[in-house]
Amino acid sequence: MVYLNGNFIPKDKAYIPVMDRGFLFGDGIYEVFPVYDNTVIGLEPHLNRLQDGLDAINIENPHSKDEWINLINKVVTLNNKNSSQAIYLQISRGCDENRKHTYGKLKPTIYIQSSGIEPKDKRDLIKGKSAITREDIRWLKSNTKATSLLANTLYAQEAKDNDSEEAILYRDGIVTEASSSNVFIVKDNCLYTHPKGPNILPGVTRKIAIQCAENLGIMVKEEKFTKEELMQADEVWISSSTREILPITSIDGMSISDGYAGPVWSLVYDQYQKLKS
Ligand code: PLP
Repeated sequence: MVYLNGNFIPKDKAYIPVMDRGFLFGDGIYEVFPVYDNTVIGLEPHLNRLQDGLDAINIENPHSKDEWINLINKVVTLNNKNSSQAIYLQISRGCDENRKHTYGKLKPTIYIQSSGIEPKDKRDLIKGKSAITREDIRWLKSNTKATSLLANTLYAQEAKDNDSEEAILYRDGIVTEASSSNVFIVKDNCLYTHPKGPNILPGVTRKIAIQCAENLGIMVKEEKFTKEELMQADEVWISSSTREILPITSIDGMSISDGYAGPVWSLVYDQYQKLKS
């Protein structure tokens, strides 16, 4: 069951008109809330980022925080309450009479759906995942969680075609983030990740991973690092709401360190898992 503009309906009965600007222009924003046993991880920062996204593209928030929470909870309940779910929430600017680039005030289209989150086994994760690197040619508002994700989907497909989990992006030699996740490196027991700003999405999992690391007494620096430093790192991780914190042990066919997930990842991963219980 999904939510569309006030109604809870089966997914195959959910349609939007062709004049929706989300369809015509990718004119909208979205959020993904990870839910485990009926608990949303990072509910508040996700709702705050939703507000930031709406502000960035000049859409008035159609609901209060409590109303959003009620809608999310209803979708969770309708889709097997106790399972692990990724709740996808999208707001597009809505439908206009004609297709034109400019817009007036429209009634936003609101869509919420649930999909399952694959359970992960730490013993499998230790082997790590592979990634490719690509030049980051996206627009300089990558901090907005916009639905227009063409560059990101093309990168993701390239990664898949290369049997890789992710495409790690760099701009002017600096690693920014990945096609749908944030990137961390560990060097000499210090954790580094690109600072917030227009070049990266301020990931909620990124924020939580930083908190977990700091709680463990690990030094964290939100500082830029180069592609060379990525390749020479002791550990590389990616983070996202649905993938959580994943070790990357091979990049562009080269092993990172000894080719296995590292001890700092293991500590932070365990700390993150505690949030689910
Ligand atoms: N960066 C990009 C480009 C993303 O698309 C995502 C998630 O989809 C992330 C980072 C991670 O964000 P979060 O941890 O909030 O899921």
